Amino acid sequence: MKITNNYEGASIRIEEIDNKKNEAILSIKKEGKNYGYYYNFCVSSGDNVATIHIKNFEESSYYEKGNIPVPYIRDKKEWKKINKENFNSNDDKDIIITVPKEQEWEISLFPRYSRIDLENFLNTIKGNSRIKIKEDPIKEIVIGDKSKPTIVIIARQHPGETLSSFFIEGIVEKIIYEEKYLDNNCFMIFPIVSTNGVKNGNHRLTDGIDYNRSWAKERLPEEIEYIQKRMNQCKVKMFIDVHCDEITNKDYIRTNNKMYGQNIAGIQVLEDMGKIRRFLRALIKQRKVINFSNLTAREYVSKKYKCDNMLIELTLKEDAKEEKNKGKDFIEGVLKNG
Ligand SMILES: [Zn+2]
Repeated sequence: MKITNNYEGASIRIEEIDNKKNEAILSIKKEGKNYGYYYNFCVSSGDNVATIHIKNFEESSYYEKGNIPVPYIRDKKEWKKINKENFNSNDDKDIIITVPKEQEWEISLFPRYSRIDLENFLNTIKGNSRIKIKEDPIKEIVIGDKSKPTIVIIARQHPGETLSSFFIEGIVEKIIYEEKYLDNNCFMIFPIVSTNGVKNGNHRLTDGIDYNRSWAKERLPEEIEYIQKRMNQCKVKMFIDVHCDEITNKDYIRTNNKMYGQNIAGIQVLEDMGKIRRFLRALIKQRKVINFSNLTAREYVSKKYKCDNMLIELTLKEDAKEEKNKGKDFIEGVLKNG
């Protein structure tokens, strides 16, 4: 068999390949002191059934006992969940995937979405005269007239949260299609904040740094410095930060604007949690200690611009195919009142 892990958005360590048994031992990648979560690689099984073991998943901060997610595969074009008979979480000891003979599969915890996918998407919307796309230092989509109040939308501060990219595609398509949204608003969208993290297939960190907790630091990551510079050049009306939550079963939103009530387009709006509750939740559910001296993007923006702000956490437990439609419905819900 052959395992490939040297392309954008791939993420796995090859520990050992036994060609006699056609068996491979792989490990998810380390991030800082802990193991990440996201994994992605390609396998070509050869003349026999291939068996793949993925180690150390239970060492991830996001691992939940008895709840190891079934990964996706892509054999030709479409992503789909791997068949149950090809996946075994082995009583939480390791993950075992069997690949029938003469198959070439890409295997991914969630559908891979790298800069190439973004490029392909942008090619489908480029002709529109209301859209400006900037390249450096990160991809930026500006839709509408920059002198109008601006809604800033970002995603992939945490590189492994790939589903948020499909959600962003839906948002962008909806805005372009419903031109009325541009009467009162301009949109500034940064679909992939952590360029290197996405390229390297990281889950949460980029070069050991949590981008979402770097907004108020003295030395900013280049991408965040640029986003802040751009935000200073416009009238920020709202800030939306899209994430995925490994633990939750249901999407949720947190916002400082009470006007939205209990849900936006069917996505529940939860009350902003106080620091103590957030600290405990992270400690209990993710075995993670939050350092509150580092403000999150939303906390920083809220303080500095006094604008509406929103955090969206998409569950990773639903089918990924829905994310694009969810993005469309969500932005429609947000903009219903102007
Ligand atoms: Zn996140």
